This record gives sequence, C-alpha cells and structure tokens, in this order.
Amino acid sequence: MENTFDAIVVGSGISGGWAAKELCEKGLKTLVLERGRSVVHNKDYPTATLRPWEVPHRGRLTQEFLKENPLISKAAGFGEETKHFFIQDKDHPYVQEKPFDWIRGYQVGGKSLTWGRATQRWSKHEFKAPELQGYGMNWPIGYEDVAPWYSHVENFIGVCGTRDRDRGDA
Ligand SMILES: Cc1cc2nc3c(=O)[nH]c(=O)nc-3n(C[C@H](O)[C@H](O)[C@H](O)COP(=O)(O)OP(=O)(O)OC[C@H]3O[C@@H](n4cnc5c(N)ncnc54)[C@H](O)[C@@H]3O)c2cc1C
Repeated sequence: MENTFDAIVVGSGISGGWAAKELCEKGLKTLVLERGRSVVHNKDYPTATLRPWEVPHRGRLTQEFLKENPLISKAAGFGEETKHFFIQDKDHPYVQEKPFDWIRGYQVGGKSLTWGRATQRWSKHEFKAPELQGYGMNWPIGYEDVAPWYSHVENFIGVCGTRDRDRGDA
C-alpha cells in the first residue's frame, strides 16, 4: 500500500514495453507487471548458437508434439529450436468458438523475442478498408494521425529499407 505509481503497464511486449518507455521518458513513475519469466540476454538463448544437427530432431517437431500442439505448431517461426519462447497448446489450451490462432509468449519482452522484424506501415487505404470493402466501421484515426508516431518508433528502433512508393499513397 505504500507503493504508488503514476502509471501501471500490464505486459512487457512491444506494446507495453514501448508504453513504459514513453511514460518513463515523460517522467512518470511507472510499474510494469509481467506474468512471464525474465529472459537474460545471451544466457537464456539456449539454442542460438546450435547447428541444426545439434538439436535432437534437426529443428523438426515430433508427431507426438504435433498431436499435442496442433495450433501453436502452425505459427511461423515455431520450431524445435524456438519453442521455449512460445506458449504451447497443452500448457494453455485455446478456447475458441471461431478459429483464431492466438500466438502467445509469456516472457519479458513477450513476442518481441520471436517476431519476424518486418516493419511495414499501413497505408491510408488500410485505415478505411472496412468502408472500401463493406465489412464494418473504419478506424477512428487515419494515416495522417499515425504517421508521426510511425516515424518516432522507426527512428528509435532503426528501421531501414527501400522506399518503394510514396507512403501515403502506396
Ligand atoms: C512468430 C511471429 C512472427 C511475427 N512477425 C511479425 C513481423 O514480422 N512484423 C510484425 O509487424 N508483426 C509480427 N508479429 C506480430 C507481433 O510480434 C505482435 O503483434 C507483437 O509482438 C504483439 O506485441 P504485444 O505487446 O501487443 O503483445 P505480446 O508481445 O504478446 O506481449 C504481451 C505481454 O503481456 C504478458 N501478459 C499477458 N497476460 C498478462 C497478465 N495477465 N499479467 C501480466 N502480463 C501479462 C505476456 O507475458 C507478454 O509478455 C509476429 C508474431 C509472431 C508470433
């Protein structure tokens, strides 16, 4: 009861981690609550330097594992050498009325440890896709609202690539 905070962030993935960074930089006393384990750089990357023939099944998943984990096994990037950073079906069963493959990773950093690092922007058309394609409500914000924040994040994390077309019109 003696501890007070200006902000409490639940989850330390890309969303929560970034929110906490911004809040701290603005001077707010911030608490981050993370349900998963701590991951110590290098020490907790047990397979990072292994060659394919040094993991038991050369990175492939056994039939037994596939049978127990039909959903998570479909995730891109999921394999014998990465499965310690993913929640497996048998440990946290998926309860779903409609198919929805929710990939989870309970650790400090969440899925920032497993994502593919592709960092595209949405175009202005994607914010209006529901109206254009007739399936629901548009986002209440548009590309112009978000563009400065895309730049803010991209500059910090060091995104680089080819500018294929004008971003607003692509
Ligand atoms: C294999 C893979 C590849 C991907 N590649 C790309 C890509 O190339 N480009 C791209 O843009 N996106 C990619 N994505 C998607 C992207 O990684 C996610 O959208 C993003 O990381 C989600 O961030 P998040 O912070 O919202 O959620 P998460 O990273 O899931 O973070 C949620 C955090 O909250 C914690 N948590 C959950 N419940 C609680 C609780 N009750 N109390 C406390 N903590 C809790 C979790 O442990 C976790 O740390 C990929 C995803 C996967 C799985």
